[in-house]
Amino acid sequence: MLELRDIDAGYGPTSILHGVSLTVEAGEVVTIVGGNGAGKTTTLRTIAGLIKPTKGAILFEGEDITGLAAHEVVDLGITLIPEGRQLFPDMTVRENLLMGAYRKGARASQKQTLEEVLDLFPRVRERSEQQASSLSGGEQQMVAIARGMMAKPKLLMFDEPSLGLAPIIVSQVFDVIARIKATGATVLIVEQNVFHTLKAAHRGYVLENGEVVLSDRADALLTNDHIRQAYLGI
Ligand code: ATP
Repeated sequence: MLELRDIDAGYGPTSILHGVSLTVEAGEVVTIVGGNGAGKTTTLRTIAGLIKPTKGAILFEGEDITGLAAHEVVDLGITLIPEGRQLFPDMTVRENLLMGAYRKGARASQKQTLEEVLDLFPRVRERSEQQASSLSGGEQQMVAIARGMMAKPKLLMFDEPSLGLAPIIVSQVFDVIARIKATGATVLIVEQNVFHTLKAAHRGYVLENGEVVLSDRADALLTNDHIRQAYLGI
């Protein structure tokens, strides 16, 4: 469904990604793991059309989407749930969710989608009339994920969904990701929480200094010596 071919990208003169290639097939949960500053967020922002690659190509459903504007990428069905949630604090949870349905093709069915999404997130349903700023960090992350699903994306991308959350809440976030996986959704997750994300994913890529150094099935990566030493502290 998604293919990155030999992508270079960065910020102005600063080159961050060097020849990154990866694929995500329909129905797969794929993760990109790596340390701070490895280029994980930059990869997602490049796919989302927020950064223009200086080399290489991005294909989505067989079409070349390299260089499209961010809103065009959204309209094709690629949704990024950014790091740090970025909810509208003064709006209610329900209003925040409805803001997620702005994509062409999601608006008409937003009431039905809202019910489907709230079925996946009973806790969010309970909080739906509350102001977003009054929720805990974990609840806000659930709302951010639910809002991303309101766009009915073909590809859902998560940027560090567990960032800054207490361990028990991190488990809840990954439970939600497991439920999303069970619906057959296509998902790309960037994470520093290597253990949880490899448990959740089908396949993974390891990014170091802007380069893919390893890729394999997630279960194989969990037992890989380099991963165990560098990322799992085993
Ligand atoms: P983290 O987990 O710390 O967010 P990451 O793997 O997601 O790490 P990126 O956010 O992609 O890493 O950052 C990769 C590199 O790009 C870092 O060295 C960072 O300092 C640099 N960088 C990020 N944003 C900008 C920017 N707007 N301008 C210049 N450099 C940037």
